[in-house]
Amino acid sequence: MDSKSQHQMKRSLREAFEYRGCLICQVLDREESDFMATLQYQAFKEEKVRQDVVLANGYCNFHFHQMARMASPTGMAILTKELIDVEIKEIERDSFGEALRVDCPVCKYVGEREESCIKEFRDFLSEKSFQKEYEATDGLCRIHLKRVLNMLEQSELHQFILASHLMHLKLLKVQLETFISKGRSTRDFKEEKDSWWVAIEKMAGKKGLKVF
Ligand SMILES: [Zn+2]
Ligand SMILES: [Zn+2]
Repeated sequence: MDSKSQHQMKRSLREAFEYRGCLICQVLDREESDFMATLQYQAFKEEKVRQDVVLANGYCNFHFHQMARMASPTGMAILTKELIDVEIKEIERDSFGEALRVDCPVCKYVGEREESCIKEFRDFLSEKSFQKEYEATDGLCRIHLKRVLNMLEQSELHQFILASHLMHLKLLKVQLETFISKGRSTRDFKEEKDSWWVAIEKMAGKKGLKVF
């Protein structure tokens, strides 16, 4: 990763401090949306970009449906028509099967960005000021926690990240208890208002996160 995108990634991580949920999931979610917004537009307007999507056999289930929410129906009609053209040709040439292999460009992009984000997060961790700010967030989901821990091996940072995770879990548990005890009286909700979805993300990562 060049220093410019490294700088951007650091900035994105800092910006994620302001939001609830896993920091890395938050950065990825934003980058994924931006990438899809650009891609759906380009795939509609530019033949070359659309051909690349067709060559990849379209998108995976999750991203196809996400794309459909962003793109125009006409854009989706043009793309799916071209995918159908390929599939018809495959069947006529008796080489059907290739068309079913999807190499989703969004998954590919998000996977690369996830790798960079985890590395950047790990480098950031050695800064004391970052540690302090990190403690005040919701921390990481358990998928990203594992990925970061694998990079740290047994070290002081390893202990720090595990101790913070324990603290984040305990705080979230208290919020969940408050949320449950308030039941339907949503009027005086405070930070526990979002605790249920923060907890889902903590367990499973963001919506559509690929876990290998
Ligand atoms: Zn995460
Ligand atoms: Zn995908």
